[in-house]
Amino acid sequence: MSRGPGQIQRAVLAILRGEPGGRSERDGAPLFASVTTLARRVYAVEEPTDAQRASVRRAVRRLEAGGLVEVRRLGVGRSYRQRRAHPRRAVPRYEERLAACTGDGCEGCAAGDRASTYFTADVIAMFIDFFGTLPEADRQLWRATARGWHLYSVPLPRPAEDYRTYPIEVTELCARRALSADEQERADQQLRDFLAPHIAAIQALRPRPDAAVTPPAEEAD
Ligand SMILES: [Zn+2]
Repeated sequence: MSRGPGQIQRAVLAILRGEPGGRSERDGAPLFASVTTLARRVYAVEEPTDAQRASVRRAVRRLEAGGLVEVRRLGVGRSYRQRRAHPRRAVPRYEERLAACTGDGCEGCAAGDRASTYFTADVIAMFIDFFGTLPEADRQLWRATARGWHLYSVPLPRPAEDYRTYPIEVTELCARRALSADEQERADQQLRDFLAPHIAAIQALRPRPDAAVTPPAEEAD
């Protein structure tokens, strides 16, 4: 179904004027409806496409610019978990690698190191030190005689303890019809009435700052 922008705006406005989410128990004002909810109604589909949601989002923004609707980004009751590095930045750490050049696809060559073909006593000592045992150093030295050897550094991945998983709330653009000044005032009053007993209860539990004065110690005669 293809619809022009004006048609979508009219459809969205008609839906919002019908207060699709009902009214808030707290302030009596219409509840906000998400772009996805609106797109379902506008296009009569269960799962609106990204393009359909984008059209509805644009329509909502134009209606907002015209003062016909109010827009807010609200949580839609879903969250996901995201793994993030903490702290965000870390000093990169490197590991030195010693390896025989293997020709095609060689990691040392890829790291930009030119294979060395020196085999001095120092180089042999380095091989023994790096590979830990004489037989393994000997094996690696033999491999290195073909194309030489590399000493190069590779960045190490950040340690696992640098990562933490955070819950991220899914929010979506939501809209409701614009309230009249009267409606807004009534909603504000209703919200104050809703909150008043809770505020009173908190104040009853917590001594007021002026009541928390310690009585002066009586002086002995
Ligand atoms: Zn190489």
